[in-house]
Amino acid sequence: MAPILSLRELARGFVRRGRVVPALGGVSLDVAAGEFVTIVGPSGCGKSTLLNVLCGLLPPSAGQVLYKSAPVRRVNTEIGYVTQADNLYPWRTLRENVEFPLDVRGVGRAERSRRAAALIERVGLGGFEDHYPYELSGGMRQRANIIRTLVYDPEVILMDEPFGPLDAQTRLILQDQLLGLWDAARKTIVFITHDLTEAIALADRVVVMTARPGRIKRVCPVPLKRPRDLFHLHDDEQFRVTYDTLWDDLAAEVRRAAE
Ligand code: ADP
Ligand code: MG
Repeated sequence: MAPILSLRELARGFVRRGRVVPALGGVSLDVAAGEFVTIVGPSGCGKSTLLNVLCGLLPPSAGQVLYKSAPVRRVNTEIGYVTQADNLYPWRTLRENVEFPLDVRGVGRAERSRRAAALIERVGLGGFEDHYPYELSGGMRQRANIIRTLVYDPEVILMDEPFGPLDAQTRLILQDQLLGLWDAARKTIVFITHDLTEAIALADRVVVMTARPGRIKRVCPVPLKRPRDLFHLHDDEQFRVTYDTLWDDLAAEVRRAAE
């Protein structure tokens, strides 16, 4: 089957003080429909830039993104984007925030309410529907941020370090929930993280990027069976072997980025 996303020698630079600084250095990758791909790389290597180019928010300086074999030329509305900071509207309740993307798409009231309620329940936010974002914990807000993208059922979901600011235990719970949601719907996910354990725990394949300008250093299939027990990953020999292999690559790039 043709890949749902195809990146061909994608490059992107930014002009700084009159000079072009390359951020992405030529990235080629195919992502299959239903695949869960995670991307790790040192800070500043162009990971967020890559997602912005992928969904059509930012044009590449060179190369191409193909979505279902057609070149992407504008913002692709079949792609959902979960950003690192939650962008919940502070003046809307949880329910209104989750329903909002459906409202924009003209989905009727009953259907809106049904779809939002099912997801809210699914991620354990039942009972908080009428709370405003400031009344929710960081973990709850991030859950809300994710389900309000899932609610309109995009084909592809991009996630930019969505669990970055959360504590380790909350992250584990949200990772586990995300895998549950993905397993139920089998959408394509491209997930950025700086946490190698998280990258391996979630993915079918882990992509390691080099220091800026970001290129692909290695693509590694994850040999762990699903469903995965994220709470006991470290007991798994295959996990440890995968981690050690990828860590050498990643550590070298993190060091280079710091030079
Ligand atoms: P990452 O997400 O991997 O930390 P980014 O994609 O945010 O990296 O940034 C990659 C590089 O591009 C960085 O050096 C950053 O400063 C630069 N950059 C990103 N966005 C812009 C922009 N809009 N203008 C100028 N430089 C940018
Ligand atoms: Mg980033």
